[in-house]
Amino acid sequence: MRWRNPAFCKRLLYDALKRQPEPDPGNRPLQFNLAWLERWSGHFDAAAKLADKAFSMMDPRQDPEGWSELLVIKSVCVYSLGELSQADAILGESLEILGAATHGRAGIEPLTVLANMCAYYHDYEKAQSKLQEAMDIADRLGLVYERSHILQTLSRTELRCGSPEAAVEAAKACLADALEHRNAVNLPYAYEVLGAALVETGALKEARACAAKGLAAAQFSQDHRVACHLYYVLGLSLFEEKRYDEARAELENGLLNAAGADYHHWTRNFYLKLSQTHEALEEHRSALDYLKAYVKLQKKMFTEETERQSNDFRNRLEFRLAHSKADYERELRTRTETLNTELQEANTSLLELNAQIEFNALHDALTGVGNRRMMSKFFETTRLSVGPGVKVAAILIDLDRFKTVNDHHGHSVGDQVIKAVAERLSDLLQQDETIIRMGGDEFLILSTRRTDADSLSALADRIVYDINLPIPIKGAVDRTVGASVGVSVQANGPDLEYELLRTADEAMYQAKKTGRNRSCLHSSVPLSIPQNAS
Ligand code: GH3
Ligand code: MG
Repeated sequence: MRWRNPAFCKRLLYDALKRQPEPDPGNRPLQFNLAWLERWSGHFDAAAKLADKAFSMMDPRQDPEGWSELLVIKSVCVYSLGELSQADAILGESLEILGAATHGRAGIEPLTVLANMCAYYHDYEKAQSKLQEAMDIADRLGLVYERSHILQTLSRTELRCGSPEAAVEAAKACLADALEHRNAVNLPYAYEVLGAALVETGALKEARACAAKGLAAAQFSQDHRVACHLYYVLGLSLFEEKRYDEARAELENGLLNAAGADYHHWTRNFYLKLSQTHEALEEHRSALDYLKAYVKLQKKMFTEETERQSNDFRNRLEFRLAHSKADYERELRTRTETLNTELQEANTSLLELNAQIEFNALHDALTGVGNRRMMSKFFETTRLSVGPGVKVAAILIDLDRFKTVNDHHGHSVGDQVIKAVAERLSDLLQQDETIIRMGGDEFLILSTRRTDADSLSALADRIVYDINLPIPIKGAVDRTVGASVGVSVQANGPDLEYELLRTADEAMYQAKKTGRNRSCLHSSVPLSIPQNAS
């Protein structure tokens, strides 16, 4: 129905749309069908707008086939503006959305449309291969109607590329198909393509017989457009055989049919052929009248065509503009996103770098424990955070005869020993306690948590004990090293740092002096620690 009387269907649908602009849930919107009809009526501008509206109301995941059909309509509209590559891309998108269903019924239309476009742009090879692909699908699924439509397109393609014999062959296959399956809709089209192809091969009688049958079929289906072409084939073949009277009669029939249905293109063709026929019959007056009518209509069509072309041109410009704007915006968005990501990455690495710099400023590079700057920071914060008179403990650790480790086993082994000692000391720390590498083989533990005799004595013993445990060395035998430990406790006050370091140092030297590998307390502190801790 929508094939043969699109105007009537459109009227019905536009009325329905006015009454109910929103689609029923689960149904395709009316805009979908209207886009389809406008496409077949050649109103591509309207079709494109309706398709856009339908896109906004449909979900490609729920109805991929409908979505793909819309893309085909959109593509045909774009193609009508001469944007072949864009139309081609949209068809590709339509096939993509179909996914596996590309090999189903829905895949046929995009392929046929693409073939038509290729034929129009004289790429017959591609057109034929696309039609073959479509035909494979139709054959596999036994789709008779689609098969016939593909054969018609193939026949027209062959005719356009100047192979009337091949066009006849395709049209004959199409006709055989339509007859075999009693396909009343396709039958007049099959006769149409066959008749047109036969005229081109010079088989005029056959063409005429074919056109007569086609006309009977077209009458049955009330298809005026195809009837025009069939009358033309009749008239043309009779004219070629110089049977001018009969040709005139058929052409006049054709003219009536074309003028009644407002088919300007065919009306014009009939005027010209009738003028030639009357000329051949030496009816000069009528020949002149038809020629005049032809010229008049040609002028009208030319004006309309010019208008259409300028509209097309405007549409094309608008289309290009909209596309380049969309492309530009997409590009801008992508670039902005990339820049934002890069900026975020740069910010993150800057933060990491800052953290690293801050860490390096307060930590010793070899062992990762605090450095002297960390010690100053500890004293600055402690002086303020703990009240005056509150006890702070310092434990100074110096390795015994460490130079000999360097001398006998090399600096690298010495380094590994220093690192192991730092790790062991760090493991002994409690919350809020700090370890500092004072330099060389000397470490300092600062604590506001353990300041009583028992805790400090236990800690000092543990330090000496842990340092004395064998230290694994990469690629060599384990090493052992001893340490002298000086412990001091001072009350918080203005000279806390100076006093604490001085007294811890004195205690440590005391330990060295009294035999090494032991701990000593500053004498002013009323604590006693076992002197032999190892
Ligand atoms: P003592 O028992 O009197 O402390 O003798 P010692 O040999 O340990 O002498 P001292 O503590 O005065 O010297 C520490 C040595 O540590 C001096 C230097 O050769 C070595 N040293 C300093 N820094 C490093 C370092 O970063 N790596 C290595 N491998 N050795 C270092
Ligand atoms: Mg030492």
